[in-house]
Amino acid sequence: MTEINPEAPVMVTGANGYVASWLVHKLLSEGHTVHAAVRDPDNTDKVGPLVDVAGTLPGTLKLFQADLLSDGAYDAAAAGCELIFHTASPFTMQTRDPQAELVEPALRGTRNVLETASRTDTIKRVVLTSSCAAIYGDNIDCEDKPGKTLTEAHWNTSSSLEHNPYQYSKTLAEQAAWEMADAQDRWDLVVVNPSLVIGPAINPKATSESFAIVKQLGDGSMKPGAPHLGLGVIDVRDLAEAHYRAGFTPAAHGRNIVSAWNTSLLGLAAALRGRFSNYPLPTRTLPKFLVWLVGPTQGLSRKFVSRNIGYDLKADHTKVVSELGMSFRPLEESIQDMFAWMIDVGRLRARK
Ligand code: NAP
Repeated sequence: MTEINPEAPVMVTGANGYVASWLVHKLLSEGHTVHAAVRDPDNTDKVGPLVDVAGTLPGTLKLFQADLLSDGAYDAAAAGCELIFHTASPFTMQTRDPQAELVEPALRGTRNVLETASRTDTIKRVVLTSSCAAIYGDNIDCEDKPGKTLTEAHWNTSSSLEHNPYQYSKTLAEQAAWEMADAQDRWDLVVVNPSLVIGPAINPKATSESFAIVKQLGDGSMKPGAPHLGLGVIDVRDLAEAHYRAGFTPAAHGRNIVSAWNTSLLGLAAALRGRFSNYPLPTRTLPKFLVWLVGPTQGLSRKFVSRNIGYDLKADHTKVVSELGMSFRPLEESIQDMFAWMIDVGRLRARK
């Protein structure tokens, strides 16, 4: 049982990110003081929207400069805090050097932040934003699980530097976090494992990979059809709530799958169709052999195609419903809000 004093400041790493911005919004709405660690507090493109929204909310936002790869960089932001939310980690599928661009910041960065936790006497809890990517690597990994369903008991054993390096980086980072948590007993670790995050962003220039995935549904690239790719999804605002509850619920513990809906690319398109029928949304499933043929020209390796396309994804969210009291927005609301937001901020061409 870990009681967090709500008067103490709360630290958030990568505070300007897509996911973290909504968490900071939630913390400020509840009146907390947030020590927001960002790479460049002077970059108004990245930090400005968060600063603006903070001005409208009861809590207090304090910015701190910190890079995951700079040892000790988070010490100043952690001073006086009891709770750390560690969300910072690169989320991109386009990398030239996955070791340097994904694994180093995810793994070294997590160790760096948790070393700060261990050095800072006031810290009682760290909430780590891991991912369902640390639970499975390819959809085919679900096939041999009981009920073909992923739970917190499962670990990703199929990803590597060469195959699904983002998933690999998240797995290594979460494993390192558990090792460090187990090696001491002053702070406890609560891990949040979200699936694909959808919903509107606070920053119109948000760069998370989530937008690239949803953009393809509306920009015509999937007009001929979409591969059958099972997905789990969670609304970014519900994910902020889940982080908040993971931080402030004394009995929160262990890993926590935060995935509201088991769906697919075509399931997302269907949820958009009623309201956005004037967009070239996919309506057909592309045959797997076709995806296998053209995949490499679209950035999908043949190994990814053979291990993912045609397989459903089922993730069990029972734990966060029963232990953290979570409930979730309807899928339609989340994806429609995201799509409408992308149109509003000019990231999808508006159509009459
Ligand atoms: P995002 O908007 O790209 O946020 C990533 C954050 O990490 C940014 O604030 C970024 O800072 C920061 N960061 C990256 N490299 C850094 C470095 N070297 N030093 C300091 N900060 C660094 O992506 P997101 O979707 O919000 O992802 C946030 C977390 O959620 C990540 O841990 C991700 O793995 C996890 N997650 C996301 C999804 C999803 O579907 N979006 C699903 C599951 C888990 P800059 O802005 O300066 O680059």
